[in-house]
Amino acid sequence: MSPVIPIQVEHGCQDAPVLRERGQREVFCGLTGIIWLHRKMQDAFFLVVGSRTCAHLIQSAAGVMIFAEPRFATAILDERDLAGLADAQEELDRVVHRLLERRPDIRLLFLVGSCPSEVIKLDLSRAAARLSQRHAPRVRVLNYSGSGIETTFTQGEDACLAALVPTLPEGAASSTSADAADAAPELLIVGALADVVEDQFRRQFEALGLPHVRFFPPRHTGALPAIGPRTRFLLAQPFLGDTARALEARGARHIPAPFPLGAEGSAAWLSAGATALGVDPDHSARIIAPWRERAQRALAPHRQRLDGQRIFFFPDSQLEIPLARFLARELGLQLVEVGTPYLHRAHLAQELALLPAGTALSEGQDVERQLDRCRAARPDLVVCGLGLANPLEAEGFTTKWSIELVFTPIHGFDQAADLAALFTRPLQRRQRLAA
Ligand code: SF4
Repeated sequence: MSPVIPIQVEHGCQDAPVLRERGQREVFCGLTGIIWLHRKMQDAFFLVVGSRTCAHLIQSAAGVMIFAEPRFATAILDERDLAGLADAQEELDRVVHRLLERRPDIRLLFLVGSCPSEVIKLDLSRAAARLSQRHAPRVRVLNYSGSGIETTFTQGEDACLAALVPTLPEGAASSTSADAADAAPELLIVGALADVVEDQFRRQFEALGLPHVRFFPPRHTGALPAIGPRTRFLLAQPFLGDTARALEARGARHIPAPFPLGAEGSAAWLSAGATALGVDPDHSARIIAPWRERAQRALAPHRQRLDGQRIFFFPDSQLEIPLARFLARELGLQLVEVGTPYLHRAHLAQELALLPAGTALSEGQDVERQLDRCRAARPDLVVCGLGLANPLEAEGFTTKWSIELVFTPIHGFDQAADLAALFTRPLQRRQRLAA
């Protein structure tokens, strides 16, 4: 039996030209990541140090949580803090002390920087070190930036995980680093996944003969994985460049693979992880084949609806290139333009190779120019941020909010049809409105 997926393809976009734009952008900030991270890490708390705007953003993005004990909040910087009239460090200490007294369940506290805290140069790393010392060993305090200055919304997760990496325990030692690198490797999956997806992947790796796969971030701080030269990691999300760099600095090695979106991507991703840990590729192919075939059957009705539709991606989530690969290859969509905020060539190499040759790629944004290209092309479906979706709908375009793709479980075989449905639904809605 041949390997599950031909990862090396003759054509593709590995060396394709990329239109780079640096103009006005329409994206959410990294605070948005708190919405899915606080659900994942169940004994962590995210304290945004920001303004009322920041508080409003995460409250509205998270929906109303009036009846729950939330795991995020905002310490609001008021005019006195912003004018330098109050000692913001002292106030922060008081807020953290009150919070930890009231919430003994918190084991890990993130101080999350924002545009206002960065503008007044509030040193949150100093605060985190001081508060960590004060509240050790019960609570560890870390900091990262969720500021919207020159970032996009999925970078919040990257910054959060990169801040956690230096605190991870040391992987099993060996007599020499060369021995350690060659000793039995351990597989780590990197990127926040919905619990249901994590459980599916865990079972699938177990079926492939790998029962000890670890996930980062874990659900509880007690399960933080050890890192070292034996660690081999698969990225579950394409926006984790800083986290990957931090893991590599600890001796871990990245496993190149497409991302687990759709039947093809999930098969290639699982297969790459298993092969890196010494599982025979033919054996993996035999185990994976029925999962892949089931996902392909579930995708068939979506392909009937989506085949030949023209799609335009504005840069927003950094998921655009893996999504475009899935939509083009498994559902027959035509890619008008695939925009992404950042193009990490190494992490996306296999994705680019699988894209149809000649795909128009763009990196960064000059929103007015891109809107002009979109209007001229008249695509059937536009994937974009919330700020662009309503005006484009008003102009008669059919849109899909890219943020929904991050909030919804979309990874793996069992979610492939749900992922496709996220693209069929707006087209069906438009058809109903036109009828
Ligand atoms: S961090 Fe910056 S962009 Fe994000 S809500 Fe606060 S002020 Fe706005």
